[in-house]
Amino acid sequence: MTPPPDSSDPTALPEQARAVAIVPAAGRGERLGFGVPKALVPVRGTALLTHAVRGLLNAGCVRHVVVAAPPSEVESTTALLRAEGLAADVVPGGADRTESVRLALRHATKVIPDARVVLVHDAARSFTPAEVIRAVVAAVAAGAPAVVPVLPMADTVKQVDFGGTVLATPDRAALRVVQTPQGFDLDTLTRAYAEAGDSATDDAGLVEKIGIPVATVPGHAYAMKITTPFDLAIAEFILSREEAQ
Ligand code: C5P
Repeated sequence: MTPPPDSSDPTALPEQARAVAIVPAAGRGERLGFGVPKALVPVRGTALLTHAVRGLLNAGCVRHVVVAAPPSEVESTTALLRAEGLAADVVPGGADRTESVRLALRHATKVIPDARVVLVHDAARSFTPAEVIRAVVAAVAAGAPAVVPVLPMADTVKQVDFGGTVLATPDRAALRVVQTPQGFDLDTLTRAYAEAGDSATDDAGLVEKIGIPVATVPGHAYAMKITTPFDLAIAEFILSREEAQ
């Protein structure tokens, strides 16, 4: 039996086991209140998207990055990444996230025809540590068809009805918070997307729907999704800690 690749050493992975990463960032959501799409909101002067792409490329186990941008922003996004010395392809996204992932996936398989491992990563999880990215890639390279990084739940969770009345208290020990990058064997993700309806927000959920098991690896607090001004303040803190190292 082939031993599983060493997730702490990305150079131990053969080229085909290194991942192609897809970053759907074609939404125009401006909920963070900066007047620009979330992916372009700056942390210490650099866009969330740029931080995310740099993190992927620096992990050592990613061979290519494809970003889906709003069609009118393909050139500016390409220039933004290039100015930071980041080699990533930027393609026009689609009408919803599902379509943007499909288009980026199609491009990825065209430019890297022997790709086997695919990551789908949120630009808003801009400070995901390299160890999480490597653990996901290593698990897929070792044979898992789908892998998600997860954290245990710190809070008790209640299921409620539409009026807000509690219906049930799921056992917290069996619950996990899901992060990205989510990793897939290419054939699995392609099949899941071929059978997907519209508007999937969770890629692993599509894989579950076609009856394929999804494995988990440990996530990290720094892989949090930056959604609110409070999260942005935490992101500044994470970056300042990293810069101090
Ligand atoms: O707007 P929403 O929160 O659903 O977007 C989730 C993610 O999907 C965001 O990263 C956004 O940029 C991306 N997206 C996309 N193409 C779209 C819509 C959203 O890549 N047409």
